[in-house]
Amino acid sequence: MSVVSLRAGQTLWTSMTSHILQPDRDEHGGALLCGVAVNASGHRRLLARRFIPAADGLDYVPGTRGYRQLTAAFIRRSILEARTEGLVCLLVHGHGRGDSVGFSTTDLTSHERGYPSLVDIAGQSVGALVLASHAVAGDIWNVDGSRDTLDVATLVGTNITRVTPEPTRSTHSIRAEDDRQARLFGAAGQELLRRSRVGVVGAGGAGMLAIEMLSRLGVGELVVIDPDKVEITNLNRLPGALRRDAAAALTHPDRPQWVRTLGTRLARHKVRLATRLARRAGQGTRVKEFATNVTDPQAAAALTECDYIILAADTATARHLVNVIAHQYLIPVLQVGTKVNVDDVGTIGRIFSVIRPVTPNTGCMKCAALINGNKLALEALPESQRRTADYGTGEHAPSVIALNGVAVSAAVTHLMLALTGLRTAEQDDFVLHDARASVTKYTEPYRDPACAVCSAAGIMGMGDLRALPLPRT
Ligand SMILES: [Zn+2]
Ligand SMILES: [Zn+2]
Repeated sequence: MSVVSLRAGQTLWTSMTSHILQPDRDEHGGALLCGVAVNASGHRRLLARRFIPAADGLDYVPGTRGYRQLTAAFIRRSILEARTEGLVCLLVHGHGRGDSVGFSTTDLTSHERGYPSLVDIAGQSVGALVLASHAVAGDIWNVDGSRDTLDVATLVGTNITRVTPEPTRSTHSIRAEDDRQARLFGAAGQELLRRSRVGVVGAGGAGMLAIEMLSRLGVGELVVIDPDKVEITNLNRLPGALRRDAAAALTHPDRPQWVRTLGTRLARHKVRLATRLARRAGQGTRVKEFATNVTDPQAAAALTECDYIILAADTATARHLVNVIAHQYLIPVLQVGTKVNVDDVGTIGRIFSVIRPVTPNTGCMKCAALINGNKLALEALPESQRRTADYGTGEHAPSVIALNGVAVSAAVTHLMLALTGLRTAEQDDFVLHDARASVTKYTEPYRDPACAVCSAAGIMGMGDLRALPLPRT
């Protein structure tokens, strides 16, 4: 028997558990329909998409063998509903309160009697979940006759919570190097960071600061995506960058064009610099480098396997793709950015740093009108056409290390507290800090009930069952 894991948005999980584990302490049931994602090493994740509660006395009735059972009609209806979308149907019931849970002999006997034929009807895996207040166990039957158990359910809320069949006790000790920060996270928290994989999209002024912090924190693996090389204009805000990374002696604007072209060829990719930063931090962080656009199929696939994504690239293409991945694969995202407003005559206006959490529980970047359709279309054009169609100015926006630091430090703080279960926020609001006015505003993300990404009819939890929006090659 091998293991599968489950991911769910906290809102969906809470609505399911509040139906299954009602205050009456009686048994209740339902069906959880899940998308599927398989990673490169073949590990399967189920992604919660929709919960169908079974109506007591109608769909969930006194059992002939056990105490209560789902009716054949409810099971059939749920499986056929799952089948039309290619989803896995998990039949759910509860065993009351507690921090450990497992199937009863009656449960397992009924699975053995019924599930092989349910798998035939579904044409897809079918399984069972049993819940307790702080535990979950699963038994999944597959089309090829194999059978999987659930090892962990990861719930994406204001914190990232792991629910297992039995309480897990940390056996890890604190390394001398981690003494100060482990006093915050504990040995268990430090180990959670070490087992985490964080995607960083854009290794520029903001992304590289995030890479420095995540490496020092001891995050286990970073997936870093950026097609660009280091330029001399980056040196004032890229941590760890050296003049020779930009081939500064050759690429200086005073040099003849042919020397600058040679210099550009010799300059180092930003993702190489990311690996060097992580290595110098000395905490064992591994870096997967993608010196490509985020729409490179391998880069996009690597993002779907992350525990968290920091979006520090400012293109509409990156926003669109990462917004889709966040919902399709239930991966929490923190978008960070800085904007310095300058008018036509060069007068400085407001200076903003933004941190925007994107999770399955809130409205998405599309709902918030943060993905500009014109810009998206423009970015899809070939390089040559894009230059002529560009907004014309070709001027670069101001960018300053300290302003990037405001957004990145807040985002990495959010991420490390969420992964170690230390956040106390009740919801994930967008944060906007006005540096000149010293004012911070929090706004609840708007959710469009008809959104093609984050609504019930959208792509939530579909995983590999839907193709990602990548350009055709
Ligand atoms: Zn049971
Ligand atoms: Zn949306």
